[in-house]
Amino acid sequence: MTGKTTNPGAGSREAGAATALLVAMYVQFLDFVCRRKAALVCRHCEKWFAPKKRGTEFCFTSCRAASFYYTRKKPALEMHKAGVPTSDIATRLGVSEDRVAGWVKETG
Ligand SMILES: [Zn+2]
Repeated sequence: MTGKTTNPGAGSREAGAATALLVAMYVQFLDFVCRRKAALVCRHCEKWFAPKKRGTEFCFTSCRAASFYYTRKKPALEMHKAGVPTSDIATRLGVSEDRVAGWVKETG
C-alpha cells in the first residue's frame, strides 16, 4: 500500500458525464433534423441559424433592422444628399414616399 487515497470511480463518472453530454447533443440534433427546419444563413451577418418560423431570413431582429438600414435607409439618405427627389427614392427602394420623407426629416 502506498497510502494514497484514490477514488477509483472518479474516472468512470467523468466518462459517464461526457457520454451523457454527447447523448444529449445527439438527441438535440435529431430533434432539429426531424422537425425539418433547415438551418439558414442570415441575410445580414451570414451566420448559420435555426429559424423559428417559415419565411425568416435573419438570425435576430437586430440583423433584420441592420439589413433594412443598409439596404433602404442609408441609400435613401445618400440619394437625398445627391439631390434625387423623394418620390424617385421611394420608387427605387420600394418604400413609401412618406417613409423616405420621414428619414430625411429625422436626420435633419
Ligand atoms: Zn444575423
